[in-house]
Amino acid sequence: MAKIPVKLVSWEEVVEWTRLLAKKIKESGYKPDIVIAVARGGYVPARLLCDFLGVDNLVSIQSQHWTEAAKMAEKAIIKFQYKIDLTGYKAVLVDDIVDTGESVRLAKEFIEKEWHPTELRTAAMQWISSVAKIKPDYYAIEVKEWIWFQYPWTRLEDITQFIRRIIKEELTGKTNKITIQELTQKFKEWYGIEPPPKYYEEALQNLQQENLIQIQDNTIIIKT
Ligand code: AMP
Repeated sequence: MAKIPVKLVSWEEVVEWTRLLAKKIKESGYKPDIVIAVARGGYVPARLLCDFLGVDNLVSIQSQHWTEAAKMAEKAIIKFQYKIDLTGYKAVLVDDIVDTGESVRLAKEFIEKEWHPTELRTAAMQWISSVAKIKPDYYAIEVKEWIWFQYPWTRLEDITQFIRRIIKEELTGKTNKITIQELTQKFKEWYGIEPPPKYYEEALQNLQQENLIQIQDNTIIIKT
């Protein structure tokens, strides 16, 4: 069993899930005039939704989880709080996934208060029903057991973070070197997937630049 279950999502799956989302929106009879992407995760699904729904208005809002350093508490904030007038527009707010639901909840609250759309509905490719505080009006897939969806648009960021985590939580202080093959094995144990080769290589380069590791041939030296 993986410590952190990860599903490596393909571009094709993203297209199919968004196609399904569009179908559900159409079947409900809702005809949005504008799509609002929740940045950053909602950008690609939102653009595809415009295509499948034939909508040519697309804007975005950046609602983001951040860690309050002092409290170590997770809190969502709206970055770049610009105002636009959506009076007369029926809108659909789109994110990749509703996990805690905090980002979508906050974005929706902000848009209703500051942008005044005639109607605003929410949509996501995935809805983690076991943990989410909100249920989006439309979703393609209901996820019952929590899993990390590794979407193609955060592949390098995620793979880098996955390796960083193994190094910090399992290796630092215990060993000062590991071979690339051994690290690959640990990656599989932690996340249940094979690291995608090109991204794996680039992530290791990133960590070397960060000065967390040093790569010597087939060996990774862990810096302290
Ligand atoms: P939320 O917890 O619903 O506010 O999620 C905020 C954002 O974090 C989402 O829009 C995703 O971009 C990302 N995220 C949260 N949970 C997951 C997950 N299980 N898999 C992939 N991305 C996630």
